[in-house]
Amino acid sequence: RNTPTTITLTGAGGQIGYAALFRIAAGDMLGPDRPVRLRLLEIPQGMKSAEGAAMELADCAFPLLEGVELSDDPNVAFDGANVALLVGSRPRGPGMERGDLLAANGAIFGPQGRAIGVHAADDVRVAVVGNPANTNALIAQRNAGDVPAERFTALTRLDHNRAVGLLAAQASRPVTAIEGITIWGNHSATQYPDLSHATIDGAPAIDVVGAEWGRGPYIERVAKRGAEIIEVRDGSSVASAANAAIEHVRDWVLGTPAARDGGPAPWTSAAIHSRGEYGVPEGLISSFPVRSAGGEWQIVEGLSVDEFSRGRIDASVAELVAEREAVEELGLV
Ligand code: NDP
Repeated sequence: RNTPTTITLTGAGGQIGYAALFRIAAGDMLGPDRPVRLRLLEIPQGMKSAEGAAMELADCAFPLLEGVELSDDPNVAFDGANVALLVGSRPRGPGMERGDLLAANGAIFGPQGRAIGVHAADDVRVAVVGNPANTNALIAQRNAGDVPAERFTALTRLDHNRAVGLLAAQASRPVTAIEGITIWGNHSATQYPDLSHATIDGAPAIDVVGAEWGRGPYIERVAKRGAEIIEVRDGSSVASAANAAIEHVRDWVLGTPAARDGGPAPWTSAAIHSRGEYGVPEGLISSFPVRSAGGEWQIVEGLSVDEFSRGRIDASVAELVAEREAVEELGLV
């Protein structure tokens, strides 16, 4: 039997946590050969709900699940973590200013970053789901001591998957016909779903759906899909967010698919540490086109960026720069 992987999930008593836990324990994230140990972190008022989830996990008798532990102390919950899924966060409340939002999240992600730096396993990989995800990831990273910056990522996989799904629907083609979509920038309304290199059955997507749609309503629809879901189901996306988190970690650990039919290997999107690629300032955690191999994300380099894309990427990255400046001014990093 393989050595178990320790997975720490924060906000484990919340909705996304509830949707993710059972799939992780069933092997959807790390595959059918990898036993898992779950460590659930909650704040005191979320503990009952996390306890309930732990009881149901026991009642599933998942063969891969070697143990579940609960804690409200990050120093305990991140002990030995190989994978950390940071879901619990402080979402923007009514009338909350950006500074208040960032300060509230600094109080969550600063201590969590420090606990990861001290207690997590040497190979720890961190994926932040809780919003504002990119900047929460930056706060955790900058508090995590000598954990390599590349180990801190934020999710744009749900945006990516939405972008694939909406393009497939528009073209009346299956999602498997689509490749080469990229989400750039911040996981926020400024994100840029980019079709310039996307293909549908190997043909340029822009030729199939038209530039007017692809560079207009499409971008807005992807960016506002979360609000659309809230309006229809009277609650935010949960299962699709959990699914995206699982796919992000799965691809990171196990690798993205190899090339088919002699074409380029498919890529996906993830917000990862910038070393200055595509003009994104170094140190920001920004979404890029990425592949994964050997347990590391690699940015797909050399894609052409036209004037329209440049403007969109720069606008979203400017928002990340402003968020970084704000958390620096607040002394959170
Ligand atoms: P959810 O489980 O539905 O969401 C958790 C976080 O994920 C939210 O901040 C949400 O931000 C974010 N998120 C990111 N992408 C998406 C998306 N596409 N769709 C929906 N949400 C997304 O929230 P709950 O309120 O049900 O649960 C949160 C839990 O976290 C609670 O149990 C709370 O006690 C816990 N918590 C734990 C902390 C800790 O462990 N230290 C700290 C703070 C909270 P947004 O709303 O902006 O979309």
